[in-house]
Amino acid sequence: MLLTLSTTHRPATDLGFLLHKNPARAQSTSVSTGVAHVFYPEADDDRCTAALLLEVDPIGLVRGSKGPSSEAFSLGQYVNDRPYAASSMLAVALGKVFASARRGVSKERPELVDSALPLEIHLPAMACRGGVEMAERFFAPLGWQVHAAVIPLDETFPDWGSSRYVDLRLTGDQRVADAVNHLYVGLPVLDDAKHYWVSNDEIDKLLRAGAGWLADHPDRDLITRRYLAHKGSLSRQAIPRLAEVDDAEPDALDDATAPSATAVGHDGADAAEADRPVPLAVQRHGAVLAALRSCGARRVIDLGCGSGALMPTLLSEPAFSEIVGVDVSHRALEEAARRLRLDCMPERQRSRLTLLQGALTYTDSRMAGYDAAVLMEVIEHLDPDRLPALEHAVFAAAAPATVIVTTPNVEHNVRYEHLPAGSMRHRDHRFEWTRGQFADWTDRVAERHGYDVRLLAVGSDDTEVGPPTQMAVFTRRPQQQTVPADTSPRPAAEGAA
Ligand code: SAH
Repeated sequence: MLLTLSTTHRPATDLGFLLHKNPARAQSTSVSTGVAHVFYPEADDDRCTAALLLEVDPIGLVRGSKGPSSEAFSLGQYVNDRPYAASSMLAVALGKVFASARRGVSKERPELVDSALPLEIHLPAMACRGGVEMAERFFAPLGWQVHAAVIPLDETFPDWGSSRYVDLRLTGDQRVADAVNHLYVGLPVLDDAKHYWVSNDEIDKLLRAGAGWLADHPDRDLITRRYLAHKGSLSRQAIPRLAEVDDAEPDALDDATAPSATAVGHDGADAAEADRPVPLAVQRHGAVLAALRSCGARRVIDLGCGSGALMPTLLSEPAFSEIVGVDVSHRALEEAARRLRLDCMPERQRSRLTLLQGALTYTDSRMAGYDAAVLMEVIEHLDPDRLPALEHAVFAAAAPATVIVTTPNVEHNVRYEHLPAGSMRHRDHRFEWTRGQFADWTDRVAERHGYDVRLLAVGSDDTEVGPPTQMAVFTRRPQQQTVPADTSPRPAAEGAA
């Protein structure tokens, strides 16, 4: 089983500092399935390649208690692809050998840890159920260029057809830690064989390795199910946790993982239901809806609506006569239209809903005239120096009677065990604020634009670090009576003209 990782970043040998493996010498580590060797076939300033070779001990695998040996003796235990094709076993070795690299730390090159470097990965033979298409589905959304070719079953007999292995090359500008974590999760997911190590702590491993990229992946649920070896109970725990930390909405689980009341028994199922925490995203939607109801809004605009996570909640409230979603991302709006099934929505619903492409940092007359605007988990996606432009467009130009803003409370991040210390909840977040920072911002905006503001907690309000989400409800102060222009007293400077 062979895997190579190359870079052309200069000096390329810096790769050794990020992988915590010295290019000058080969190292061997014993792992549960055999021996993992790391060596550098090339290492100079222009190009450096690290190779990971896993020498599987097939006899040990069968004998060892960790091996897939629960079945009775069969030839298949001795004659199989396991020792040769990159698979979940290589991921285990990779996880152990590059543990520090995966955490994204480097004493010698701290500045490179967060830099995207030009990388190439080559797996000459990788087990891949679903073939080239599946490899692309996994790696392309993560920013890799994918070159995959199916390996024929036997080169001399092409009629025999394809094997379940691909020769995979990935190129892209990536952080080394991300690249290694993509492989750590990708290898078992694509292999999709029965792996033998899945246990409850696999959820934590998956969430750690997937931090910052898995929650956003279009095939997140498939990846989670395959990684957890199709163990429905584990996937059901993992998906809401992914959603919580990365602020995405958990998709409805499909039938394969839906809880089966008959299997658990009625009482068991109810008890499990009661124990399951309400995902943070759902609590957030509830909090926004409650604020909208209490201000009596009828025409509501969801600014930065993304793929429309809040829309079903808004549509389910008959009091909202008009619902508009705005986002700068065309792709997100397409996804919203698809998820909401706009094309087959009954006309009465459809006529209440509009999706618009627009930027919140420019004044836009289409955003004016609404009773309430929602900015749910949006401000932290803007560079801080663009925030004043958003404040102007929303609070001064559009100026709805009510503005509801939610954003993460960074103090709460320490409660997410699988979130590495100091990292943000989402890779696109430009900042995450403490409660104090949010209060300062909301006070300043309210003061400048003539609003009153109330702060609320969403999610369980931890006595020490506060709630996971913070919410502000701005209410526009009654405007001063304007006196007809011709009789109004003018400031001296203007009147003098
Ligand atoms: N409100 C949604 C999406 C949050 S993600 C939810 O809670 O699920 C943040 C969204 O803000 C993204 O969809 C992004 O495209 C959008 N966004 C970021 N900057 C923007 C800008 N300047 N103008 C409009 N939308 C923006």
